[in-house]
Amino acid sequence: METTRLGIMGGTFNPIHFGHLLIAEEARQQLHLDRILFIPSYATPNKDICGATAEERLAMVRLAVDSNPHFVVSDMEIRRKGPSYTVDTLRLLRTVYGKDSGLYFISGTDTIHDLPNWHKPEDVLRLCYFVGASRPDGTEEIEPIITKYGDLGCKIIPLAVPELEISSTEVRRRLQAGLSVRYMIPDNVADFIYKNGVYQCVHKK
Ligand code: ATP
Ligand code: MG
Repeated sequence: METTRLGIMGGTFNPIHFGHLLIAEEARQQLHLDRILFIPSYATPNKDICGATAEERLAMVRLAVDSNPHFVVSDMEIRRKGPSYTVDTLRLLRTVYGKDSGLYFISGTDTIHDLPNWHKPEDVLRLCYFVGASRPDGTEEIEPIITKYGDLGCKIIPLAVPELEISSTEVRRRLQAGLSVRYMIPDNVADFIYKNGVYQCVHKK
């Protein structure tokens, strides 16, 4: 019996959008998780994080999750600095929550396919369940990854979620082009972006 069932939502969140929030809420509900911890990364290996500072990305995540009592934010990767390896974060969470807790790392389809390129993917699977969200008719796409990891494959959980074609890249592109991002990101996050000139966009709603 797991003492705490903790969902972990890692990402650059540059900025956070409804695609992130939807898979987190779906995972919470379908897997009966007690709470979801959003952990913005400080630096992601092989990814250029442009346009917003780590503090701004963290502030936007805080605003986005504010209305959901099951969602909480951790600045542990931002405080740790350096490359944000999930394996290090999971090891720390294991010590904080104890060996009897269940850790469920929530990811989108693109991330689960990228897992073999991660730092120590086998250790990641030993430390947590890796939840791969995909559109309802796409869960079988995860099968090759499950097979690839042999016995550890049982730690990969496909999760069917409605597909939302939103990415942070597209949100940034729209903001920089002066286009609306309404219904793609929470209103309070958009207000923060306009007020603080994040992504150097001017106030257009
Ligand atoms: P970028 O465009 O900068 O790559 P992103 O929108 O993919 O950003 P990330 O912060 O890289 O956002 O993603 C964090 C996690 O959320 C990843 O596991 C990613 O697969 C997942 N994710 C991102 N967008 C969606 C979406 N629209 N639907 C489901 N999962 C998503
Ligand atoms: Mg991405």
